[in-house]
Amino acid sequence: MLKVNDINVYYGNIHALKGVSLEIHQGEIVTLIGANGAGKSTLLKTLSGLLKPKSGEILFENEHLAGKVPQLIVKKGISHVPEGRRVFANMSVEENLELGAYLRKDKQGIREDFEKVYQLFPRLHERRKQLSGTLSGGEQQMLAMGRALMARPRLLLLDEPSMGLAPLLVKTIFQIIEEINKTGTTILLVEQNANMALSIADRAYVIETGKIVASGRASELGQSDQIRKAYLGGH
Ligand code: ATP
Repeated sequence: MLKVNDINVYYGNIHALKGVSLEIHQGEIVTLIGANGAGKSTLLKTLSGLLKPKSGEILFENEHLAGKVPQLIVKKGISHVPEGRRVFANMSVEENLELGAYLRKDKQGIREDFEKVYQLFPRLHERRKQLSGTLSGGEQQMLAMGRALMARPRLLLLDEPSMGLAPLLVKTIFQIIEEINKTGTTILLVEQNANMALSIADRAYVIETGKIVASGRASELGQSDQIRKAYLGGH
C-alpha cells in the first residue's frame, strides 16, 4: 500500500531522515518506535506532505506522493493525527469533526462517518456541542482521531496518541486503534510507549538518529534483547 524508498529530509542543514525506507501493507498496524528526536514525527510529517524530502520516493498505491501538498495527500487517503492533538479549541466537537471532512462532497457519506465516529467515541457524542478547548487530554486525543477519520482515510498516521494520558485511558485509546484497524483502516503508529505499540502491531520499525536500525514482526522485535534494553525498560 505504502512504499517509502530511501528518503532524506533536512531542517536547514540538520539531516533528520537519512535514507529511510519502509513498507506498509494494506490492513496492517505498523509501529515506528524510537527515542526522542530520532525522527519519528519528521517521517509522519513527510508522509502527510508537511515536509518535503530532498530525495527519495513515497509511493502510495503506486502513485508518487513525495513533495505533494497535504490536501492532495488527504484526498488520496492518508490522514495524520499530529502529536499534541491540535484541535481547534474555540470550536465545538461537532465543528472540529466537520472540518475533518472539508475536502469531501458526499453528504450522505459524511453523515454516516459522523455516526461511525460517535459510535467509536461515545464521549464525543455526549460532548458534541462543547468547546474543544474544555475537553480533557484524552477527549482531545479522541477528537483528533475522530477528525482524521472524517476524511475517510485508508491509511491513518498516529503520532504519539498515548502521550500524557493516564494508564487506563492509554488502554482505551489502544483498543480503539485496534477497532479502527479492524474496520479496514491501515495504521502507522508512532509511539514512545513501545510495549503497548508492539502489543497491537503486526510489524515494527526502530529508528535511531534518522536511520531505520531494525525491523520485523512486532512479536519478534519485542523479544529481542537489544530492543528490550533500549526501548522496553528490559535488562
Ligand atoms: P519526539 O518524540 O521528541 O518528537 P521524534 O522522533 O519525533 O521525537 P523529530 O521531531 O522527528 O523526532 O526530530 C528529529 C530531529 O530533527 C531532531 O534532531 C530534532 O531536533 C530535529 N528537528 C525537528 N523539528 C525541527 C525543526 N522544526 N527545525 C529544526 N530541527 C528540527
